Amino acid sequence: LLALITLVAAPPYSAETAARIIGGALADGSAYARLAELTDGIGPRLSGSPGAQAAIAWALSKFKEDGVAARTEPVKVPHWLRGEERAAIVSTPGVAAHALAVTALGGSPGTPPSGIEAEVVEVRSVAEVAQLGDRVRGKIVFFDHDMSTPKGYGEFGPLRMKGPAEAARAGAAAALVRSLATASLRSPHTGATIFPEGAPQIPAAALATEDAELIHRLLARGVPVRVSLTLGCRTLPDVDSANVVAEIRGRERPQEVVVIGAHLDSWDLATGAIDDGAGVSVVLETARLLAREKPRRTVRAVLFINEENGLRGGKAYAAAHGSEMHVAGLESDSGAGRPLSIALRAGSGAQELVAPWLPPLLQLGVDRFATDEPGGADLSPLARLGVATAAVKQDVSHYFDLHHSAADTLDKVVPADLARMAAAFAWVTYALAEMPGTLSRPPPLPATEAPFAEPEHHPAAK
Ligand SMILES: [Zn+2]
Repeated sequence: LLALITLVAAPPYSAETAARIIGGALADGSAYARLAELTDGIGPRLSGSPGAQAAIAWALSKFKEDGVAARTEPVKVPHWLRGEERAAIVSTPGVAAHALAVTALGGSPGTPPSGIEAEVVEVRSVAEVAQLGDRVRGKIVFFDHDMSTPKGYGEFGPLRMKGPAEAARAGAAAALVRSLATASLRSPHTGATIFPEGAPQIPAAALATEDAELIHRLLARGVPVRVSLTLGCRTLPDVDSANVVAEIRGRERPQEVVVIGAHLDSWDLATGAIDDGAGVSVVLETARLLAREKPRRTVRAVLFINEENGLRGGKAYAAAHGSEMHVAGLESDSGAGRPLSIALRAGSGAQELVAPWLPPLLQLGVDRFATDEPGGADLSPLARLGVATAAVKQDVSHYFDLHHSAADTLDKVVPADLARMAAAFAWVTYALAEMPGTLSRPPPLPATEAPFAEPEHHPAAK
């Protein structure tokens, strides 16, 4: 389709500009170098941690290095600490003792210091907890599933987000959730779980896939399984933190804003190279490349805090800036894979408006519009106000092998793929900021309160 359009119309952009932006991203190695500084130099960045604060100062200095005006905007964030975590299958007749690879879910309370011990009951949906009624009282509820593809994150995400709260309501002693992952070398994958304000809370942990399989096998044979669990996690009072907001003022229509974003915070188990260090480096790279071009509209780069366990940064940005004229939003929070396609959520005529700007992306392997929606948790509060969104969809086939686990480290990032992603993201941002017209506004999203870090925000398969 894109190739066809190049044949019938003269391009609306300058080929030299396209070569400068895309060539700069591909040749300079800046995105990967900065991702290395962030991951190896600063490390894990959970909200409220010293790493998160250091990342904010680092991001400000990078924007300034590139001549992009940047500031912080205050955000209060939750402060959850992990502590020790230990679990084991207790030896009973016919069952050996097994240490279990577990990691607490963000937001979980701890167990008493001596831990808890209880029998395990397996369920495969949140609804099944209520159906079991009294049979889960005092038990450890084990949420099992068969996620095997990236799409499964949307399907099974509610087990982690809502399952533990439902088990707590039913009087369970604790919850174990099979890791939401597409691969495992016995590494559990954490992530947020939500206990509604004032509702009962129980300790909740993710279980490595192999250990989930073991418990499932034993239970399927009719063997009762008892598990001991010790979690030292706890929540401290909220902490003052910040979004980092940088701006390249538009040369003709400065009041019209194209907002681009990624999140600075990460889980604490690793250095957050793919989630979302990669996105941070893509946004920094876009600002670096576009600062020299001075597009028609304002490009505002936001590095959000607290996407992972509260979405406070995304909500704070929408509260502070929601009334401004955002003509488009673009988020990078799907890892470091190579770019594949362009997604749009806008009113009618959007693809026709954008398509003539896309031929420079063919060299990067981006050759079509995606059939699914852009997604993106941090911009979801803004999207709910009716702002059009776009995305560069990436290869996410290995994203959930690593996501939220101790394996989310820099060695998984292929520098050339990250550079291609940065090039595509920078070019689409430039197009949205430079094109004569603007995307028409999409029909509003449902006005329901957005849960934070909604599982759907992460990429379904291309
Ligand atoms: Zn993320």
